[in-house]
Amino acid sequence: MTHRFMLHWRDGTTESVAGSDIVDACNRAGIGAGALAALDYWAMDDDGREGAMSESVLREQDKRLDALIQTVADVAFKQGETAASDDEVEDAINAVHEYIAELRTPAVREPCVWSQDEEGAWDTTCGGLFEFADGWPSENGAKYCCYCGGVISEVAYVDEVEE
Ligand SMILES: [Zn+2]
Repeated sequence: MTHRFMLHWRDGTTESVAGSDIVDACNRAGIGAGALAALDYWAMDDDGREGAMSESVLREQDKRLDALIQTVADVAFKQGETAASDDEVEDAINAVHEYIAELRTPAVREPCVWSQDEEGAWDTTCGGLFEFADGWPSENGAKYCCYCGGVISEVAYVDEVEE
């Protein structure tokens, strides 16, 4: 069955594509993995259901990108007089994965306040509780809340002084 999908690009324009699913529709329309970063969201025309790019769609794009990188690496390997090492190929692939992860993170997120309690654990405004072996979230390299994905804002525990 063919569905119609309305793509809403970040620049405000829309585009109608058709396919058995969103991946197929994008493929048919010649929209590559790189262009999807400019996609704000897509909506299914049939029933008006709207959704962000689903995890499975993103994984599918990852696989295609992986294959592409591997092909490029293989060609470079055959062509080059100095062949790239496995580590270099691995590094390149990892760099792309990091970039994909970055693209998936919405630019603007609600900050999440992490307040230290008297035990030293951190209560999060989104309802989580997290404890580090030592130090503050920032000292442990934590930038985003592991529960809601918001940017962490730290609040130290202050002893209530009884008078
Ligand atoms: Zn949170």
